[in-house]
Amino acid sequence: MAKILFVNPGSAGHVNPTIAVVKELVKRGEEVVYYASDLYKDKLSETGAEIRTLPTEAMMSAFTHHENHHLFNVINGLLRTVDIIVPRILRETKNEHFDYMIHDSMFSCGYILAQKLNLPSVSSVSSFAHTKSTFDTFINHLTSTVNAEEIQQADETFEVLKNHVESTYNVIVPSRFEVMNNPGNINIAYVMKGFQINYDTFDPNDYKFVGPSVLKPNVSGFMDQIDTTRPVIYISLGTVFNQNATFFNHCFKALADIDASFVVSIGYRNQLEDFDMIPSNFTVAQYVPQTELLQHTALFLTHAGMNSTNEAMLMDVPMLAFPQSADQPVVAQQIEKLNIGRQLNTEDITPEQLKQTVLDMLAALPYYQQNIKKVKSVQSSDKTGYQLAVDHILNFRDQHLTQSNI
Ligand code: UDP
Repeated sequence: MAKILFVNPGSAGHVNPTIAVVKELVKRGEEVVYYASDLYKDKLSETGAEIRTLPTEAMMSAFTHHENHHLFNVINGLLRTVDIIVPRILRETKNEHFDYMIHDSMFSCGYILAQKLNLPSVSSVSSFAHTKSTFDTFINHLTSTVNAEEIQQADETFEVLKNHVESTYNVIVPSRFEVMNNPGNINIAYVMKGFQINYDTFDPNDYKFVGPSVLKPNVSGFMDQIDTTRPVIYISLGTVFNQNATFFNHCFKALADIDASFVVSIGYRNQLEDFDMIPSNFTVAQYVPQTELLQHTALFLTHAGMNSTNEAMLMDVPMLAFPQSADQPVVAQQIEKLNIGRQLNTEDITPEQLKQTVLDMLAALPYYQQNIKKVKSVQSSDKTGYQLAVDHILNFRDQHLTQSNI
């Protein structure tokens, strides 16, 4: 048994895939201390880990300090969270011994903490994985889309923040890659090999594409209210960039006379009053048991969040993607490229186009399902994502413990 420091103070999309992983680690005898955002204490409480919290409001206000949210400023925002996350964890763990750490690849300061605590580390990657080289290509492309003055300003701020972090904590911050991707000694990605962009370019010793980390859903009773004698169509824009009443209104208007049962997750920031008339074949909720629902879903109208996409593929559900922000446009592109679904633009879609696309897709479900199976077949193991993740983590631990003779 070893003791793990787990640091993952990000949003639900970063936390969700780790729930099954932590449960499995605890089941196999590891002791886990998990630092999470105070919003997710309850969600994580059943994993068997000791949950310690970090202040969401303070982290978010540092993270969103810069007005314009292009990637350079996102990275500067991440550097600003160091002063909130790092001293607190260092203080609270001062008299504790940990054998290794696991940290989120984005929102964790994991690269800095691992140096500071001198711990071997595993990075938990909840979206597409990046190497330094793929990330640099991505950043270079971005310089052509953000204006030169903004870039110069962001560069100067990055230098100031980097120097501050390096001198305050006596660590090295080599480049933006380490701030944004927090590479570990090994990197566990919940993306399937067949879905990862440029999968072949990743060193299999360093990057493990374990696939979706999803626990078998419980039967909650939610499905009792849904008529499953006709196709079930599920609509959601996820939990973050979901305030798009125009999109939901388009769906109500365009899809009302399709013979299907629609379930819509509108998120906690939208209210029913925000919408025009809701047709009788629509069930609308602020949050639904998504993995349970997907087991009964014929077609998923999704924002193409990585977790939603993983969960849909796991359950062979074709997707019609409406990317909103963050990595969603890239995920949607991959959905379309692999023919496991299609994508439309929420900005300029007409009700007629939406209806026709849904009807076309309903008529071609076996085609998309077959392509999902193709993507899944690249995965060489029958084990679930979280079992595989824990196999890799424990192998890493065993190698490391032997090497350092702990
Ligand atoms: N989710 C859910 N019920 C809902 C909406 C979302 O259970 O009504 C879960 C979903 O299963 C997924 C996560 O929330 O695990 C959303 O993550 P994703 O990466 O798809 O999108 P994000 O919310 O981060 O934009």
